[in-house]
This record gives sequence, C-alpha cells and structure tokens, in this order.
Amino acid sequence: GKLIDGLTKTRDSFVSGLENVFSGFSEIDDDFYEELEEVLIMADIGVATTEKIIENLQAKVKENKIKEVAVCRQLLIDSIKEQMRVHDDAYDFENKKSVVMLIGVNGVGKTTSVGKLASQFKADGKKVILAAADTFRAAAIEQLTEWSNRAGVELIAGQEGGDPAAVVFDAVNAAKARNADILICDTAGRLHNKKNLMEELKKINRIVEREYPDAYRETFVVLDGTTGQNALAQAKQFSQVADITGIILTKLDGTAKGGIAIAIQSEMNIPVKYIGIGEHIEDLQKFDADAFVDALFE
Ligand code: GDP
Repeated sequence: GKLIDGLTKTRDSFVSGLENVFSGFSEIDDDFYEELEEVLIMADIGVATTEKIIENLQAKVKENKIKEVAVCRQLLIDSIKEQMRVHDDAYDFENKKSVVMLIGVNGVGKTTSVGKLASQFKADGKKVILAAADTFRAAAIEQLTEWSNRAGVELIAGQEGGDPAAVVFDAVNAAKARNADILICDTAGRLHNKKNLMEELKKINRIVEREYPDAYRETFVVLDGTTGQNALAQAKQFSQVADITGIILTKLDGTAKGGIAIAIQSEMNIPVKYIGIGEHIEDLQKFDADAFVDALFE
C-alpha cells in the first residue's frame, strides 16, 4: 500500500543492509551485533536508540537461548517496536473541539501539512478553519490561501508583518462563532531567535486559553525527515520553547534514512502523529509505529 510505497527508499537500503548481515553470519557473535548496529545507524536510527535496540535484542537472544541468526530478525522487529513505545495520553483530538498548532522552521513542510490535515479533516466531515499565523513571510500567507482553497476550508489571515497573536485571536473567535470542529494554526518558526519565538508562542497560547478555554489543544512540531539527526536536534530545541504533544515527520518518501522516525519517537518520548510521504494533499498518513516498523521489514 501507500505506506510501503512511501518508504521505498528507506526500505530498499535498510532491507539490503539487513540481508547482508543475516546472510553473512551463521553465528550470533559480537561481529554480528556490530554489523547489525551499523545498518541501524545507517538508517538514521541514531546511536543512542540503536544501542538500546541492540541491548534489548541481546537480552532476548540470551533469555530465549537463540542460536540461529535467522530468528534474530523477528526479535529485532520486536525490539524496535518496544523501543518506539511512547507515553501518549492524548485523547482523540479529532473528536473534540480542537485547536491544533503547527510549529517548525521554514521549509520543513509546515504549510503543506496544515493543508493536508485540513483536507483530511474536511473529508471526515469536520468543519475546519485555518489561521495564517506565520505573518513573518508573505509567501506563507499566499501558500496557505492556496491550500485553503484546495481543501475548501476557510482561512483567517492578517497582514504580512502583523501580530500573529492577533490573527489567532480572530481565528479562535471565528472558530467559536461558526462552531468549527478544528482550528489549525500555521505559526512562524524562527528558531534562531529562540527568545522571540518563545514569547510569541506564549502570547498565542495565552490568547487561546483565554478565548477558548474549553478547546482541546495539540501542538505539533513539524520536522523534515530528510534532514536526519538534524531533525532530532530541532525537536529537542522546540521542546524547550513549547509543550509539544506530537510530531509530524515530513518527506519520508525522499530519504533512505527513514529510521529517523524511530530515533525521534524513542529519544523524545513524544509520539509521531503523522508522516508525510509525498507532496500531494493525500500524502499525509496517521503514524502507527508497529505498521511503520513492519513496512520497513517487508
Ligand atoms: P514550510 O516552509 O515549512 O511551510 O514548508 P512548505 O509547506 O512550504 O514545504 C516545503 C516543500 O516541501 C514544498 O515544496 C512541499 O511540497 C515539500 N513537502 C512538504 N511535505 C512533503 C512530503 O511529505 N514529501 C515531499 N516529497 N515533499 C514535501
């Protein structure tokens, strides 16, 4: 299916790397684990997460007194899945009156993801309103206008250079007045100016809290999967300025290092909620860690 197609690059390189290791060893020894480790790191699963996965695998091998290399394949799949279990106490925002904030640096696919989400929610019968609170770039407002037309949902926008919090104020009140199910806010993500960004997000949060106290809230950080470990570094930086409740990992179709999804979810202990696997409106999928790992090994 779609997930399998979207992960073609990652799977091709990952599976061939794995096959080399599994066919190259008849015994489970230190060299076997070392080469396995290399394949995982090559897929951008990251050193820290890879070590945990290997330790977990070694424990399983020992506990079950496994001697055959082939059996390790399933145990490896299990170990990766276990490593990806995250604390996720969020209830289903899609069935509540919700305000969803997207944050992330320019170019990661934030505006595209807002558009894709809007279109999916609309298709599910939800009333959606968009807020163009990335007032920093005129292009962001234009782009979001296009997406809102494509998705057939309303957009609340301000002027370029205007106060993002004022846009959010208008959008929240429009959402309430029109009984919208989901308000999705596109925000500016200037990480290089952390203090300003933090102040801006705080101000936006205060307005949502004051104007729409009953709304269920989600804050998603959008990360570009092709940037590998850099995406993980960005997730860490954003978690210092905002209470991130989920991750949208984009452009997984464009990388052979899709293992970054495993690294991020494991190291941040924040759930990846959606993955982007293409440029089209339908190329955003709800993320299911188990299905993702299975797709990598197909
Ligand atoms: P923003 O600056 O973060 O708002 O990023 P944009 O939404 O403008 O996206 C930047 C570029 O990435 C655009 O060319 C998008 O079409 C592209 N893009 C976004 N998501 C995906 C994805 O999942 N896969 C691919 N291949 N391209 C994507």
